[in-house]
Amino acid sequence: MLQIQGISKQYKTGDFVQQALDDVSLNLRDSEFVAILGPSGSGKTTLLNIIGGLDHYDSGDLVINGISTKQYKSRDWDSYRNHTIGFVFQSYNLIPHQTILSNVELALTISGVPRSERRQRARKALEQVGLGAHVDKKPNQLSGGQMQRVAIARALVNDPDIVLADEPTGALDSETSVQIMELLKEVAKDRLVVMVTHNPELAYQYATRIVELKDGMIRSDSDPYEPASDESTAAPVHRTMGRASMSFLTSIALSFNNLRTKKGRTFLTSFAGSIGIIGIALIISVSAGVNTYIANIQRETMTAYPITIDEQTFDLTSMMTSGKQSAENQGKKHGNDAIYPDDTAIKGTASMTSSITENNLSAFKKYLDGKNNAVREHVGSAGIQYSYDTKFSVYSHDADGTLVNADGVTVGGSGSTSMADQMANGSLMSADSSTFTSTRVSMLTGKTDQNAAPSSFHEIMPSADGKQNVGKVVSDNYQVVKGSWPKNKNEVVVVLDENNSLSLTTVYELGLKSASDYHDMMNQLNSGDKVKTDTKKINYGDVVGRTLKLLPACDQYVKGDDGHWTYVGDDADQINTLIDSDKAIDLKIVGVVKPVADADATPLSSGVGYMRALTDALIDRAASSQIGTEQKADKTHNVLNGMTFSPSDDATKAQDARAYVVSLGVSKKAQMAQSLMASAQGMTGQAGAAGQAGQQGAAAQQGAATAQMSEQQLAERFDAYIATADESTLVAIYNQYVSTGSYNDNLADFGVISRSAPSSINIYVDSFEDKNAINDAIDDYNETAKEKDKITYTDYVGLMMNSVTTIINVITYVLIAFVAVSLVVSSIMIGIITYISVLERTKEIGILRAMGASKRNVSNVFNAETGIIGLLAGLIGVGVTVLLNIPINSVLHYFMGTDEVSAVLPVGNAIVLVILSVVLTLIGGLIPSRGAAKRDPATALRTE
Ligand code: ADP
Ligand code: MG
Repeated sequence: MLQIQGISKQYKTGDFVQQALDDVSLNLRDSEFVAILGPSGSGKTTLLNIIGGLDHYDSGDLVINGISTKQYKSRDWDSYRNHTIGFVFQSYNLIPHQTILSNVELALTISGVPRSERRQRARKALEQVGLGAHVDKKPNQLSGGQMQRVAIARALVNDPDIVLADEPTGALDSETSVQIMELLKEVAKDRLVVMVTHNPELAYQYATRIVELKDGMIRSDSDPYEPASDESTAAPVHRTMGRASMSFLTSIALSFNNLRTKKGRTFLTSFAGSIGIIGIALIISVSAGVNTYIANIQRETMTAYPITIDEQTFDLTSMMTSGKQSAENQGKKHGNDAIYPDDTAIKGTASMTSSITENNLSAFKKYLDGKNNAVREHVGSAGIQYSYDTKFSVYSHDADGTLVNADGVTVGGSGSTSMADQMANGSLMSADSSTFTSTRVSMLTGKTDQNAAPSSFHEIMPSADGKQNVGKVVSDNYQVVKGSWPKNKNEVVVVLDENNSLSLTTVYELGLKSASDYHDMMNQLNSGDKVKTDTKKINYGDVVGRTLKLLPACDQYVKGDDGHWTYVGDDADQINTLIDSDKAIDLKIVGVVKPVADADATPLSSGVGYMRALTDALIDRAASSQIGTEQKADKTHNVLNGMTFSPSDDATKAQDARAYVVSLGVSKKAQMAQSLMASAQGMTGQAGAAGQAGQQGAAAQQGAATAQMSEQQLAERFDAYIATADESTLVAIYNQYVSTGSYNDNLADFGVISRSAPSSINIYVDSFEDKNAINDAIDDYNETAKEKDKITYTDYVGLMMNSVTTIINVITYVLIAFVAVSLVVSSIMIGIITYISVLERTKEIGILRAMGASKRNVSNVFNAETGIIGLLAGLIGVGVTVLLNIPINSVLHYFMGTDEVSAVLPVGNAIVLVILSVVLTLIGGLIPSRGAAKRDPATALRTE
């Protein structure tokens, strides 16, 4: 029993108040067919909506089976509509994009009935109204009468107690109207049917009771009903109904179905939404391409220019900055009143001198090897490479069987060594020093360079962890043109340049062409003739497979009977014996390599490349060598001549000078005598040039008189002279000609080095950022290190690249700004699209609400739908971008003339973009879907 007790309803539109219902009271039986008649605007629909819980009364009460609805909350009303009420509208209000089966199912879907049961009950309801054969049709494929029957089936599917029909025949012809009335009459057999109609004839023919309404008031009632007194006297109680429940999963399924039934529309909406995503994705692709390019450039630059820290260094940076300061001083304007001395040159020289510094690499290596240092965190893939000053010579025999030294072609004394030879082999050009001193000195650093490895020999950089013989930097940038990379310490490769060429000198030094040709060539050069060079090509086959003989520096000394060691590296006979002994290490040329066409870095100079394993072997060999061990045992005396290292008193110097001269051979004595005389003559004209000038005056005069003497005579006269010379003369001779070297120089000459003391450290990094971080880390190290352990080095890349880095940063920020702008634009766009699609579906919201869907259900359905659209938009956006990148790349490559910059959408970014699209669409749809849910269902249904 339904009781309407004094219900009033007003509509306020601005100042105008419309009394739609005015104190209406009506009791309805559980099973009857009530027809409500009345002119348009009399409040029929309002009454029906209030009965159905779609609209709410202002005053009075609606009592359902004795339960007052005064305190009903919106979810009670939802449940009431869902379980108790079935609505039939004049305009059918079917959801156009769903099949009639789905339309009928809807009420069951909302109440959470499982799918199979839903299907079955919906089919049954459709059969009841005679539409069993049309279940898969869309509403627009049916006639008006059929649609209204679908609406009735939908109203009945939940088996409601009350069916409310608002002008169900209003849009139908009379014949169809009759069918619908028959149906409703049938329905009304076991439930309450309230029907509003304009058509009194039909009402009188089918309805069991007629209620007439006018101006919001009941004018007549054909069959009033007064409930039995015991029913009416019981005061209405409040009780909540069970609630309609639709799970979130159901709403997703519902939305998915919705979307599936309107594929084209969904696609278009998603596509519109995806445009923003495409914009962002394209910018990200291009910027990722540019960033990859920048990162590659950085890595290539940093591979070509690692941070190099040498044992001896020349601080270019401080020199450049001090030069700048002087230049600034120069900029000072002087007056026209006096002479202003300019100190730029002197300061420059001073800073140049002070710019040469010694780095304590052992201390620094210890720091690098230690755990938790900041440098290690930023090291690149090529790692930190340590170089060692290993000392060795390499010999081979040319086609004529002549012994050839890889460091200057010829093996032998100064007699046969031309000036050009010496220039070629890098030794100092003074005949004096090569004869009398055993120390060659590097011009720049003042460090002993004696016995240095041939300049054409280079170690091949291994991988960072040392596990690979040939590191990635080398293997990426070099190709093997013949043979293979070396696999052990006995194997080497010949390294060519990009143009397949190899210095002719190196060709001779490796004995690949006849040494006598080299001498002829050099003689021509010396005599100023036109030089004819032999640049005929050499077959790979003549090179690969050749064996060279390596002799470590420590094995180039022979111990004499006097217990002193003599250097025999310039004695061809001795070398010939030594390289056939077990002291020599065989080096087999196993391949020929050259830089690849677009090499980023060429860390391997042309010549011969050998392995880190050889370096290791040489370090071990020198450490255990006899000469090295003997020298290490006595740090005060030189094992080469028994003399004291840097004696402080003149007596020792004089004694050593005498001992030195005595130990010389005849021809060397004669040379020395001549040299002494020559310098004495030279100096007689220069008063006070040196203290020794006066002493040597006598010898010089003698020398002038005896210029024609034989070597033998000269040597004898010299012996006699030395025997009687006073201490200061001897000290002068000692200072000029005798060098005892130093303990450290000796060890260096023998190639004895410690693994903890590399000669240079190369730190490879992959980006400028890492380089800067390492610069900072070294600065930090310097802050804490002792004064003598501070590290000086030149940051070449920093000097070159500072402005470039700024430009790169600007580019990066500009790209980020672009992305941010397109993000904002696309989210606004997605929001608008979602909003429009919600607005468009107001009617559908009304239907859902009439069917008992709660506000949450409605917003869930819309959220699920926008979420799915967002997902689609994201996927379309990503997909379209990937496709668009193809033509974009060809355009980019065409205009840039290089394919180094490629627009690529990184997978991670693509995933983020899809998620972003979903989130943005959800947010964009949230406000409209909230609005949709809040919409008054009665108003929503009145919307066309
Ligand atoms: P009927 O269905 O009998 O034609 P209604 O119940 O639809 O009449 O309307 C009753 C009166 O209330 C009408 O004057 C109508 O203009 C007014 N009315 C109905 N709904 C609204 C509304 N949402 N806002 C303002 N006035 C309304
Ligand atoms: Mg109406």
